[in-house]
Amino acid sequence: MAAKYIFVTGGVTSSLGKGIISASLAKLLQARGFNVTIQKFDPYINIDPGTLNPYEHGECYVTDDGAETDLDLGHYERFLNKPTSRANNITTGRIYQTVIDKERAGAYLGKTVQVIPHITDEIKRRISLLGNQGYQMVITELGGTVGDIESLPYLEALRQFRMDAGPSNVVTVHLTLVPYLAAAKELKTKPSQHSVKELLEAGIQPDILVCRTERHLSDEIRAKLALFCNLQFENVIESIDADTIYDVPLLMLKEKLDLRVLEKLQLPIKSDPDLRSWKKFLGQLKNPSEAVQVGLIGKYNELPDAYKSIHEAFVHSGAHNECKVEIHPIHAEDLECADDAAKAIRDLDGILVAPGFGERGIEGKIRAICYARVQQIPFFGICLGMQCAVVEFFRNVVGLKDAASTEVNPQTPDPVIDKMESQKSIENKGGTMRLGAYTCVLAEKSIARKCYKAEKISERHRHRFEFNNKYRELAQSNGLMPVGINPEQDLVEIIELKGHPWFVGVQFHPELKSTVEVPHPLFNAFIRACIQRKAKKAKA
Ligand code: GLN
Repeated sequence: MAAKYIFVTGGVTSSLGKGIISASLAKLLQARGFNVTIQKFDPYINIDPGTLNPYEHGECYVTDDGAETDLDLGHYERFLNKPTSRANNITTGRIYQTVIDKERAGAYLGKTVQVIPHITDEIKRRISLLGNQGYQMVITELGGTVGDIESLPYLEALRQFRMDAGPSNVVTVHLTLVPYLAAAKELKTKPSQHSVKELLEAGIQPDILVCRTERHLSDEIRAKLALFCNLQFENVIESIDADTIYDVPLLMLKEKLDLRVLEKLQLPIKSDPDLRSWKKFLGQLKNPSEAVQVGLIGKYNELPDAYKSIHEAFVHSGAHNECKVEIHPIHAEDLECADDAAKAIRDLDGILVAPGFGERGIEGKIRAICYARVQQIPFFGICLGMQCAVVEFFRNVVGLKDAASTEVNPQTPDPVIDKMESQKSIENKGGTMRLGAYTCVLAEKSIARKCYKAEKISERHRHRFEFNNKYRELAQSNGLMPVGINPEQDLVEIIELKGHPWFVGVQFHPELKSTVEVPHPLFNAFIRACIQRKAKKAKA
């Protein structure tokens, strides 16, 4: 079957959850047997979000092929349990870069290069690229809100694409907000009417309207929206606030979003979607038999999106263990002395020290790790979190008082964490870290080996600094074991502490590979260790 295309646009405001609606629709179509992928267009000028501050844009998600991408790709992978790639996230910057490179190479010789047709052609090419990779359905989510100046070339490209591919091969889903006005005790349709008008101005009539709302839509409201937005009644879909994002596929199933899409695409409707494993996960998520308290020690805690994948990995591993994981964000900068760290952590069942960049909060992270190490509290360090654990160990156990990462102190006499050799000559910031999937070999009798139940694993990276191999033997002889090694470059990827119930630091980002169907083994084991610690404490 030739690929079919689904466009998802958004109106009225940002943050309506286009990514979740796209992922939920994809999940339903996948559960009906279709091979689906989702792609996100971001209308900003950055080439990718790799150079963006997490406060600006939330977490930067990394794919196997080393692309730094929008965090919505994380949702796509978590819902579909299928890896995405560089082709799944395109920005305006990348579109223009391609066109400008072509212009310099002389590809348009003699022609004036313009938004229409050159930029729009490049946008259309990026959409078909995935369709030509064997997917039966490609969902393209357009970031931003219709009416933004930046969105215009994309809307024009979508309009053209529909003409080129034929209307039965393309469906447009428009996500909008139907706000409730408490004073008037009414749901209001006007903002949605306006945003559909805006789409019409760009030459696009949406086929389906998905309405985000905090109250159920009455038939009357649906009929009004249908009338004013030029839609059939059944193509007005309600998307009510949900307890968890993982409820949304089932809510969309109830509203028949998948059926409406299949009808529009003139595809046969065979059987019901197979959502057994999804429902099993939801059952476990909603009926935990116990709870653990986990400290998340980071520096971007004001914005939960900055650690999105970590939060979601805890949701998956919590459900897996039938345990509610209550996350306590702790600002590393608030841990100004050992006492602060003790107070913040002592009643918790485990701590995760988050990834990050730069100096801010480092000492607080080190104090937290020291407390967890001495008090035998389960510790999970990710990327910078692992690097801080190495520094803490060398300072407080080995006795190298000034040990540090050269990211923080380039003059340290003991650079236990140092810039990778391959990184030293690099000056450009964008896309130049150690990025994407690398193999790691696990030592026998390690916690990691037991968790993964495999000798060789593959995990995703995003960093410039690494464990300095000159200190490897000293670490080992004092009890900090390098138990995961990159076989090609001989880099330390995992450390564990001898004699501690659960002290694991990883140089990679396991959170990026946790999905509903396959919760990450390290997160699962960390939660088990927290449960055990809690049980032990209760007995004592
Ligand atoms: N800043 C550290 C590095 O570049 C850690 C990066 C991270 O935590 N992702 O190596």
